[in-house]
Amino acid sequence: MNTDVHEQSPSYVRAIAPYQPGKPIGELAREMGLDAKDIVKLASNENPRGIGPRTRAAIESALGDLARYPDANGFELKQALARRYGIGMDSIVLGNGSNDVLELVAAAFLNTSRSAVFAQHAFAVYPLATQARGAGSIEVPAVDYGHDLEAMARAVASDTAVVWLANPNNPTGTFCPPDALEAFFKRVPAHVIIVLDEAYNEYLPSERRYDSVRWLKRHPNLVITRTFSKAYGLAGLRVGYALAHAKVADVMNRVRQPFNVNSVALAAASAALGDMEFVARSFAENLAGLRYLEQGARALGLDYIPSFGNFITIRVGKAGEIYKRLLKRGVIVRPVSGYGLPEHLRVTVGTPEENQRFLTALTASVKD
Ligand SMILES: *Cc1c(COP(=O)(O)O)cnc(C)c1O
Repeated sequence: MNTDVHEQSPSYVRAIAPYQPGKPIGELAREMGLDAKDIVKLASNENPRGIGPRTRAAIESALGDLARYPDANGFELKQALARRYGIGMDSIVLGNGSNDVLELVAAAFLNTSRSAVFAQHAFAVYPLATQARGAGSIEVPAVDYGHDLEAMARAVASDTAVVWLANPNNPTGTFCPPDALEAFFKRVPAHVIIVLDEAYNEYLPSERRYDSVRWLKRHPNLVITRTFSKAYGLAGLRVGYALAHAKVADVMNRVRQPFNVNSVALAAASAALGDMEFVARSFAENLAGLRYLEQGARALGLDYIPSFGNFITIRVGKAGEIYKRLLKRGVIVRPVSGYGLPEHLRVTVGTPEENQRFLTALTASVKD
């Protein structure tokens, strides 16, 4: 028996460092002998409001058809998105979460003789998706935790095929203003795909909002990605999408599994997209929670990175230790040492009660 058969896997695949997800509630309950009901999870930027009644009804009605394959083209959801954004349905690629869509970009545009550019402290999936294709990674140092767009434009090499940008970024919550993005797009060669990951778009305050979709006309190398996992509350169902030039969307769809988005997820996302009130409330409650957590961090004399998402990354010092103390108190947050932030913890904005639980636990944990 050849036990070294795993070495037949390309070395770039074996070198992948697995993604570190937020600790599941059930796991902490088992480890600490806690009641799952007493655990607060603020580790995965999930929506503490859950889902709205219209979305729940759509899910229940989709259960009647589970024996059937889903619509491989996601007609209904694509139609709703096309109407929302004023673009053609052929400019939309649906994914099993936007993570899937990011993988489709990598599958369609990267290989072992190409490279991708991304920022220090950028979302972990960019280096993962890049490495899984054997492409080279060019990581550009951040400035004040945010993307240095000037340096990123300069870092584009002759073999670069993809640039990954997150706006706002996770786990830092930093934001690039639209004029800086437009200046960046003009500097990147037209044959390089620019992924603008807007997973937290719905959490931007009105004065920061910008219309990225109109940029697709002038920049056919732009791929905008969005998700139903955050403000729409559907992280468990996995739905995301890309908006891109029809020819770019076409190649991404060629590497997509035919049934990559399940039927319940398709129905839920179509309903959730129409529930503007749910998103508006998620936005307002998030902003209030963010201000509350900022205030709490300041009261403890802790620095934090000003955030435009549904989370805040706080500099607690010995983050590994504080993380463990919080776990003992039944509060799960996210260590970000893997992102080059060994002194920070990322905390998702929860319900007012959850935020309060977190601050009480943090206050005790920094004093332990
Ligand atoms: C959460 C997140 C995503 C994707 O999440 P999905 O659940 O796969 O849609 C993408 N980009 C960033 C920056 C994120 O934080």
